Amino acid sequence: MSAVDLHLHSNRSDGVLAPADLVAFVASCGVRLFALTDHDTVDGLEEAAHAARAHGTTLVPGLELSAAWRGRGLHVVGLGVDPTAAPLVRAIEQRTRARRERAERIRDRLDRAGAPGTAAYRVVSAHPLPTRTHFARALVELGVCADPGRAFERWLGRGKPGDVAAEWPDLGATVQAIVAAGGVAVLAHPLRYTLSAGQRRQLAAEFKALGGTALEVAVGGVAPHQVETATGLALRAGLEASAGSDCHDPALPWHRPGRLAKLSSALVPVWRRWEGAHDAAAHA
Ligand code: AMP
Ligand code: MN
Ligand code: MN
Ligand code: MN
Repeated sequence: MSAVDLHLHSNRSDGVLAPADLVAFVASCGVRLFALTDHDTVDGLEEAAHAARAHGTTLVPGLELSAAWRGRGLHVVGLGVDPTAAPLVRAIEQRTRARRERAERIRDRLDRAGAPGTAAYRVVSAHPLPTRTHFARALVELGVCADPGRAFERWLGRGKPGDVAAEWPDLGATVQAIVAAGGVAVLAHPLRYTLSAGQRRQLAAEFKALGGTALEVAVGGVAPHQVETATGLALRAGLEASAGSDCHDPALPWHRPGRLAKLSSALVPVWRRWEGAHDAAAHA
């Protein structure tokens, strides 16, 4: 089986490559079935679909929606969505507004904390969908931090001045928007949230009860024991498994597209529904 990667970002959100360039890069990594999953937007899908046809690869139309659960931010990947479905379009509009408002609050909080928030915001606000990644890159460009990782450590990561909570719609509404658009909801990188093991199990069970289908088990850059933990979490909740690198930048080798742990045979791969489409396209 050729490599699969169901979590990738283009520059329509906080990735660095344009959608067509991302598709070319993903194909060069040997990936034949992939999803573009930009944060809170489907704007890159048309360009990506065009490029996927040119490369003989199969694109699963997707996105990564920001959501709230028990006062925390979570990410839910929607796969196989109709990007024109009205409930999804509304879900995206809500988040676009929330992101723009939050960017202003991040600007003010950074200014008050002694970082050049206003100068960073001038660059960040040019993007239709501002993320903390854009602030991190702007702080690097302004010479405040050596690299984006340090910008998160010092200014934007958990508990830092630029870690501003946004008013994301709740998990149930998020899953519903994806399902109403004909897609399947996948809980993204379940081990990246600061939760106890018990809370994580509650999250997985609740996600399933709300209509979620799968959980990301093979995630870019994670250790084997984390894959095992996520495998147990998926099996216990009766969720299928997804695999995605979460690649934002080809310069970061630990998120190389398609380079992911093999799933336990006990798991049901969420991508089985699109493999036929790939074979049909390949043999047409
Ligand atoms: P936002 O959705 O605006 O809160 O931004 C979250 C994005 O920031 C994530 O999707 C990651 O791409 C990026 N991010 C979060 N934490 C880090 C970190 N410690 N280092 C680098 N990037 C990060
Ligand atoms: Mn991101
Ligand atoms: Mn994410
Ligand atoms: Mn992501």
